[in-house]
Amino acid sequence: MSKRGLLIVLSGPSGAGKGTLCNLLLQRRPELVLSVSVTTRPPRPGEVHGVNYYFTDVENFERMIEKGEFLEWAKVYNNYYGTPKKFVEEQLQQGKDIILEIDIQGARQVKENCPDAVFIFILPPDIEELKNRIKKRGSETKESFDLRIKSAEEELKAVSDYDYAVVNDDLEEAVKKLESIIIAEKCKVIRNKDLLHCACKEGIKL
Ligand code: ADP
Ligand code: 5GP
Repeated sequence: MSKRGLLIVLSGPSGAGKGTLCNLLLQRRPELVLSVSVTTRPPRPGEVHGVNYYFTDVENFERMIEKGEFLEWAKVYNNYYGTPKKFVEEQLQQGKDIILEIDIQGARQVKENCPDAVFIFILPPDIEELKNRIKKRGSETKESFDLRIKSAEEELKAVSDYDYAVVNDDLEEAVKKLESIIIAEKCKVIRNKDLLHCACKEGIKL
């Protein structure tokens, strides 16, 4: 019996380490799929179209909104970001577990439409370290840096809407926690009702 995949939502302030953690998680669990978002933000040096994001312009993004092509979308730090709906739906139907690395506005929309998703919030050890990490990444203008730090305070308040909070202090510890959350979520009885029913009734090995 095939089972629908797990939808995993990862949020947290810019610089908390979401991207770094996702990459490590995907190396450890290659069966996981990462949803590639569409954005109007310009690419950073080294970012690849179709790998990090699908980069597009505002006109095309707004056309995609009108056509209902997004599972969720939001304006974050003055740019549009959105999750292509079709890809996510296909992966879930094929039983694949998929990660969305999205902001808190997008996560709220996913919670409305897909309440059985797992919501994980990544926290930095403290604000000073958050600032250091964004600076170290060297990707932002002064204006974008200030906006991201200013937004962090508001974003951190959203942690109470999530199922899990993971502090990304020691990278290895944080990845282990993410892996553990996913493993535990996949073992939940509620997610395995059909399989367990068959196993009990017909003695099928799980
Ligand atoms: P986000 O995707 O949340 O914006 P990134 O994954 O880009 O954050 O991480 C921001 C910066 O912090 C990167 O330079 C990354 O190498 C660094 N970083 C991430 N996690 C840690 C950690 N646990 N300890 C130290 N530096 C980290
Ligand atoms: P960055 O510009 O640093 O790559 O991302 C900025 C913010 O946009 C981060 O909080 C990131 O999680 C969020 N983001 C990335 N993709 C999406 C998306 O598809 N939808 C939403 N709502 N937010 C996204």
